[in-house]
Amino acid sequence: MPGNILVVEDEPRLAAVLADYLRQAGYEPHCLGDGREAVPRVRELAPDLVLLDLMLPGRDGIEVCKEIRSFSSVPIVMVTARVEEIDRLLGLELGADDYICKPFSPREVVARVKAVLRRAGGQPAAESRGLTMDKSRGKAILHGRDLDLTAVEFQLLHFLAQHPSRIFSRAQVMDHIYPDRRVVSDRTIDSHVKKLRRKMEAAAPSEEWIHSVYGAGYKFEAP
Ligand code: CA
Repeated sequence: MPGNILVVEDEPRLAAVLADYLRQAGYEPHCLGDGREAVPRVRELAPDLVLLDLMLPGRDGIEVCKEIRSFSSVPIVMVTARVEEIDRLLGLELGADDYICKPFSPREVVARVKAVLRRAGGQPAAESRGLTMDKSRGKAILHGRDLDLTAVEFQLLHFLAQHPSRIFSRAQVMDHIYPDRRVVSDRTIDSHVKKLRRKMEAAAPSEEWIHSVYGAGYKFEAP
């Protein structure tokens, strides 16, 4: 079972309570309270999930989340103090997997952590299967080969890869890869997927990463 949970929370009592509950649920919590320590710790620990408070000393949760997403698809659950904040965060497309609002019951947090891990569940990490994505440069490398993706293809792959096993309709994919909400047809999405697959197949002939789900859309799964 996935075990290491990084808890980034600057209220020591709250962090301690969360750690207790997570430990009781069989996880291994690692706590830190300074936003500046979060990214280095994620790189070093490679946790199975990050519980990330929004308001942190040193560096806020938004920046931390963005930077983690530039190199890792680890599930991130963002914790906010205000429910109105969640809408704004969703609009920022940070790539967090879930949002929890304070005050919460530690039991609820554990349930959400479990659900997010289940969703990502049993999935081998893309990195460990040979796919790495560098968001700042828009580059995807598969088994050492640069896939040479267009900006749209990169966005498409990056978006799907952040939510392994989750099925997205063409409309949802469209909303995410065209931030200007430009209207494109379903066929356009299909054609981007086709080109992306062709490039991935050229680098890894026997592997299937992007799956079509009949009547529904697409999903990403590391082979
Ligand atoms: Ca805080």
